[in-house]
Amino acid sequence: MNFKDVNCPLCNSNQRKLLYKGKSIKNISKENFKCTSEDLAVYNNIYKCKNCDMIYQSPILDSDIIIDMYRSIRDPEYLEKEKERSRTFENYVDLIKRFLRKDSKILEIGSYTGVFLKLMKDQNFMIEGLELSDWAQGISKKNIDVPIYKEELGEFCKKRTELYDGICLWDVIEHYDKPLDELQFMNKILKKNGYLFLYTVDAGSYIFKLLGNKYPFLMIMHLVYFSRKTIRKALEKRGFKVILINRHKRYISKKYLFNRFDIISGRFSFIFKKIAALYFDITKKEFIPIDFMGLMDVVAKKT
Ligand SMILES: [Zn+2]
Repeated sequence: MNFKDVNCPLCNSNQRKLLYKGKSIKNISKENFKCTSEDLAVYNNIYKCKNCDMIYQSPILDSDIIIDMYRSIRDPEYLEKEKERSRTFENYVDLIKRFLRKDSKILEIGSYTGVFLKLMKDQNFMIEGLELSDWAQGISKKNIDVPIYKEELGEFCKKRTELYDGICLWDVIEHYDKPLDELQFMNKILKKNGYLFLYTVDAGSYIFKLLGNKYPFLMIMHLVYFSRKTIRKALEKRGFKVILINRHKRYISKKYLFNRFDIISGRFSFIFKKIAALYFDITKKEFIPIDFMGLMDVVAKKT
């Protein structure tokens, strides 16, 4: 495996301080890149740029290898989680409705098995998807009749310009090794005054700082960790104006929650499990809304 040391992905400085020492990983497989990957404490060194405060992982794999990993992903376990994802995504359909009309043309980058595509299509949006994984694309094509493209974003943009009223990417931007390049591509295919919607880790959140090297989204596949300040800077550098940044609310199942308790709190997890089990019993709800996982929603507009 070819891991390479990288500079700050936001300002290119090599002045940095080590935030969390990684495990010096030599060998990883496509299993580490699945959406449902449980390799939550496996990552290389995490640094903070001394110049701009961007937090990022280094060394990382070559872009070509990363792309190949995503192309070859198969993730059957994700299908079990589609229902809770769908509940979370309903909020994002509502978010998009606040900014765009029903006849708007929208691209979802990283559309995976098509859960969000389906919700948007049901609401009569002209939605299209971009997805590298053959497996995930195959599933979405079976279930939903919208265009889904296979190219990586840079390739996709070569033939297209000012095409979309909106672009959304959920849990995607933190996977990019060169997020500024990708934002430039998004800018190119958005119409003027078009909107960008995303959610990602908020490295400035309390939970990110509190859990430190145990924060569950520090992962080998998450290469960049924006804060509100650094995502704003990145977006402004690439011709976007930030419209809003909010705390991300996600709906999760009992199983998912229990699994996270085990990772974070180890032998004390039974206390948290008892409380959560009570909640699920009393409310009779299938999913619980959680807004303290240290993620943020961002809406930006092409200027
Ligand atoms: Zn920097």
